[in-house]
Amino acid sequence: MENFTQRYVDGFMGELEARNPGEKEFLQAVREVVESVAPYVTENPQLMDQKILERVTEPERIVIFRVPWMDDRGEIHINRGFRVQNSSAIGPYKGGIRFHPSVNLSIMKFLAFEQTFKNALTTLPMGGAKGGSDFNPRGKSDLEVMRFCQSFMTELYRHIGADTDVPAGDIGVGGREIGYLFGQYKRIRDEFTGTLTGKGISWGGSLLRPEATGYGLCYFAEQMLATRGESFEGKKVNISGAGNVAQYAAQKAMRLGAKVQTLSDSDGFIYDPEGLDEEKMEYVLQLKNIRRGRIKEYAQKYPQAQYFPGERPWRIPCDIALPCATQNEIEKADAENIVKGGCICVAEGANMPTTPEAIRIIQGAGLLYSPGKASNAGGVATSGLEMSQNSMRQSWTSEEVDRYLRRIMQDIHAACLQYGKNPDGSVNYVKGANMAGFIKVARAMTDQGLV
Ligand code: NDP
Repeated sequence: MENFTQRYVDGFMGELEARNPGEKEFLQAVREVVESVAPYVTENPQLMDQKILERVTEPERIVIFRVPWMDDRGEIHINRGFRVQNSSAIGPYKGGIRFHPSVNLSIMKFLAFEQTFKNALTTLPMGGAKGGSDFNPRGKSDLEVMRFCQSFMTELYRHIGADTDVPAGDIGVGGREIGYLFGQYKRIRDEFTGTLTGKGISWGGSLLRPEATGYGLCYFAEQMLATRGESFEGKKVNISGAGNVAQYAAQKAMRLGAKVQTLSDSDGFIYDPEGLDEEKMEYVLQLKNIRRGRIKEYAQKYPQAQYFPGERPWRIPCDIALPCATQNEIEKADAENIVKGGCICVAEGANMPTTPEAIRIIQGAGLLYSPGKASNAGGVATSGLEMSQNSMRQSWTSEEVDRYLRRIMQDIHAACLQYGKNPDGSVNYVKGANMAGFIKVARAMTDQGLV
């Protein structure tokens, strides 16, 4: 980076850190984007004059609210709810809701910021937002989850709407939670609109939305592999997580001919040297989505599999790594293991699962590497398709949705190549994704004046 550009990055980040002290995930996410786009911004001084980066790193609105609820024993609990509406430059705010005890303002702001550029990449008209709560759904009964969701929505409803802000699921928020949230929204507003996505098929949902993030991730990774004449066929794949994204990434990778060796949760990981098959996959879907069990039960059911408590799957050698659990789950030592194990491609299903130091190791070793904002955008893209179907009062077949999803992932990949191709022919997907998303958002902000 040239001196002037480096000084610009340092000055910008210095001010941002002073304004947002201690928000480490938010600052990490912003730094990655700013380092990618700074050469472009400094070459186009009107973007500096208009303070585009300063504006897009200050959310348009943040709502923080109390969420009181009562458990099955009659005890009262108080959680904290958030909605960060980061940018409406290219469409109504759009982004998931996360229920996890780690949720705080920094995590909400990082996710809403990332979502802004991810949504721009999908080619659909959606702004960026994120929301959630430090509520932990683990071990709660259905009724407790329902009471919590109703209390959460009793405040959130004022800030969302089909043309204003359309939330979806994320960690800890799946079909069950979206149902309870939608039910309460409908009851308060007395309207049946597409204000949430990830809805059930019989009440306005889209076919293939549950599968979309994981499938889209594999479609994107296929494109990456193709740049080196490779494919999923016969490859060993390690996946972290065992939730929505991990499940369908595993299913698609398997159906593309790969051997899926690992899955995990926050307690540990399983390694199945024989790989998943359709029957084992069905077991995982039942275990996680119906019985809400833990991944260690897989190793009890299939004795050839081993369970490693308290560990992540990255020390098992693989060809393709798909982190699908949470932020910063691939650290320096994990990245070193991934490289040492002969991996050729790391494609992110989770948001920001790889630390900056780990990214440098992975990129430095010449592996294909894609950031989540590009490779996991299939989920929000299909949410965008759900919004279209709701507006048209139509339902598309899964083949139609799958065709759109594939095309969108191909278009995102092409955008990454357009802005991320290095002179030696290799591709910097981080730069490509950040530039493509930023240019679109910056143009829309310029067109709409100082707002
Ligand atoms: P789920 O809640 O369905 O699954 C999350 C999985 O990750 C669980 O297996 C969970 O284990 C594990 N996990 C969560 N937090 C941690 C942690 N701190 N340490 C270790 N493991 C953890 O979430 P999703 O699959 O929906 O989301 C996974 C990732 O993908 C997130 O980063 C999310 O932001 C991202 N994403 C999701 C999209 C979607 O459509 N759902 C779209 C785009 C991105 P445990 O059960 O033990 O908590």
